[in-house]
Amino acid sequence: MSQHPKPPVNWLAAIVLLSTPIAALIAIPWYAMNHDFSTSAWVLMVVYLYMNGLGITAGYHRLWAHKAYDAHWSVQIVLMLWGTAAIQNSILNWASGHRVHHRFVDDVDKDPYSAKRGFWFSHIGWMLRDYPSGQLDYSNSPDLLKNKIVMFQHKYYLPLVLLMNIAVPMLVGYAIGDFWGGVLLVGLLRLVLSHHFTFFINSLAHMWGNRPYTDENTARDNFWLALLTYGEGYHNFHHIFQYDYRNGVKWWQFDPTKWLIFALSCVGLTRNLKRIPNFTIRKAQLMMQFKRAQEQLEQKQRLLPNVDIEALKQRIAQEYDAFVLTMNEWGKLKEEWYNEKKEAVMQKWEDAAFKTRFNEIEYRLKMQSKRMQLLMQQMVQPIPA
Ligand SMILES: [Zn+2]
Ligand SMILES: [Zn+2]
Repeated sequence: MSQHPKPPVNWLAAIVLLSTPIAALIAIPWYAMNHDFSTSAWVLMVVYLYMNGLGITAGYHRLWAHKAYDAHWSVQIVLMLWGTAAIQNSILNWASGHRVHHRFVDDVDKDPYSAKRGFWFSHIGWMLRDYPSGQLDYSNSPDLLKNKIVMFQHKYYLPLVLLMNIAVPMLVGYAIGDFWGGVLLVGLLRLVLSHHFTFFINSLAHMWGNRPYTDENTARDNFWLALLTYGEGYHNFHHIFQYDYRNGVKWWQFDPTKWLIFALSCVGLTRNLKRIPNFTIRKAQLMMQFKRAQEQLEQKQRLLPNVDIEALKQRIAQEYDAFVLTMNEWGKLKEEWYNEKKEAVMQKWEDAAFKTRFNEIEYRLKMQSKRMQLLMQQMVQPIPA
């Protein structure tokens, strides 16, 4: 990164992003000292927070930036409104910038929120000044320029922001008989929490956690962050397979955004949910395991030159051979399947037979991944001399 004079301050962003937490820190305790907030205001604060979060994760991120699924126009309008309430710029600006983030991830000059520039920059700093890396260029978003809902929001962004952040909280407050609870909790506190929880995806999710699928970039998988970020804490998976509608790819991983998209697909409101094939995911995972095992071996050899690690080396080599064999078999099976498909419409039973064979190979990878895990656990134990 070049150390030129600092770019000019983006005053609008700076005022919104810095004044709201300060106002919340002063106004909320001050009000609470003299009055009580109602339970309904607290509950609705959490509900509205979740709506905003999902507007960003299911809408801005997975639908518009990554096209990981298609959504009915009614779903798009709801996600657009929820996302607008989060005040994170228009869908067009956000999604276009996010595509640049994926394309140039970690590049200090091109990634708009490169984690290599530190926590503060990737969390919030990148929005406070007009950095060259944040320059807008819609050439990567022709699809969004054609989307009527996206363009409507872009055009009427300010009135929509005021509607969702001032009018709605006031109405909520009025409706529950706790006007200031509506304004201060549902309006102000919700906005500040919503900001920082989602900003964690750009900062902490690139710094804290594991890298089970790739170490080509800084993105991490982190369960604790997934809890705060509506499921987007599984960021290592997301950066390698960005078109998958899931971030927490395993069924048990906490990803409410994925659950929402899937639930809507059951009633026909979302379609074409993109899933990376299990085989491809396992392959990435195993390749990382082999890489780690290799690194461990080298480290052991360096630190304990007198210890015999031939047995370990051999086991890893055997596993690797088995892996290559499975890959070849998979390639062949796929070819066979394509040829059959080309020749004639396959009989149902034939299709099922192929499915079983594909599943078998997939299962083999799963077992191998488990064995590698055990092997790695053994490797971190000291080797008896
Ligand atoms: Zn990222
Ligand atoms: Zn993304």
